[in-house]
Amino acid sequence: MNLPSKLPDVGTTIFTVMSQLANESKAINLSQGFPGFDCDPYLVDLVTRFMKEGKNQYAPMTGIPELREILSEKTKSLYQVDYNSESEVTIVSGATDALFSAVSAVVQPGDEVILLEPAYDSYAPAVKLSGGVAVFVPLNIPEFSVDWDRVKDAITEKTRVIMVNNPHNPSGYVWTKQDLDTLAGLVRDKNIFIISDEVYEHIIFDGRKHLSLMCHPVLKERTFICGSFGKTFHVTGWKIGYCLAPKPLSIEFRKVHQFVTFSTATPLQFALAEYLKDERKYLDLPGFYQKKRDLFCSGLSETDFKFTPSQGSFFQLVSYKHLSSISDYELSVKMCKEVGVACIPISVFFNQKEDHKILRFCFAKSDSELLEALDKLNSSNLF
Ligand code: PMP
Ligand code: GLN
Repeated sequence: MNLPSKLPDVGTTIFTVMSQLANESKAINLSQGFPGFDCDPYLVDLVTRFMKEGKNQYAPMTGIPELREILSEKTKSLYQVDYNSESEVTIVSGATDALFSAVSAVVQPGDEVILLEPAYDSYAPAVKLSGGVAVFVPLNIPEFSVDWDRVKDAITEKTRVIMVNNPHNPSGYVWTKQDLDTLAGLVRDKNIFIISDEVYEHIIFDGRKHLSLMCHPVLKERTFICGSFGKTFHVTGWKIGYCLAPKPLSIEFRKVHQFVTFSTATPLQFALAEYLKDERKYLDLPGFYQKKRDLFCSGLSETDFKFTPSQGSFFQLVSYKHLSSISDYELSVKMCKEVGVACIPISVFFNQKEDHKILRFCFAKSDSELLEALDKLNSSNLF
């Protein structure tokens, strides 16, 4: 048999590779982004309760009304923006599903999709599988802000979508009002859609406010907002998220979503609908994660790495450019095996694997695990 690959350049994701290596090396795993602590036991009790109550068959394709309604209310109260719970909110099996379904709904063969690099690893393959052409525009390094002149230059007659991620993985960059306004100015008179990955919307620091793209009317009408409960409620293994989009966009989105997964785990949806009634569960998240960021950064300041504290997400970047010319991939493997701390080399988030000598650490871990990792980093002779 001869199966020509549709994704010849794609291997196993770096997250799987590094997590496996961390396990084999018994290293502290600060690579793949997932909390190293459990979720609220009440959330587990709720799932158990709904399972026992028999909520075990297919949910509606778009999600259960209770969850769509409370999401619509939450969005209204946080951002003063309306999404009709019936026609504009769709529950999906993780933000990955939302991103893939949105790309598949919009991108036709030959369409260009602008991706800002470093970009989360699922974007480019989704574009390619739809026959689209990914056009990579680098962010300004080391701030990781958007280079709007380059985005403007990249827009052509064929541009159909711009994919954005705020707060940004891996850098933690958080968008400003000016970012929203500039993007709106660029797409205002064009038939360009936006896919906005906002999975870290509630993990944002130093009093910053998350500016969802829905907050700008020019952007709202053309944007698919992709969210994930995995990040917000420490349940990345549940793979449940949502897509908010105006009705005409949601109609097309749902046509795809129904044949990707059809629907999403029913008891999880009932549990989350109940859990979301207490807004403290997500409003307290910035404070919770800021303590972890600060703990991690204070330890990092005793190492030779250079860094700027993350503005959002649960990732911290560090640069070692001034210390060594070893590739970030090699350094990550060496650090994992010899120091016992696993991280992600950010070259993997670039199409051409550009090596800026920057590593990503996930600080969504218990304080003791973070302290142990810092201890290992401090006492290592890596360079
Ligand atoms: N987008 C970004 C930027 C992410 O970091 C992740 C996962 N960590 C996802 C999407 C995928 O989210 P989910 O697990 O809900 O599919
Ligand atoms: N989003 C997570 C990260 O950036 C990983 C998710 C995955 O393993 N696919 O680390």
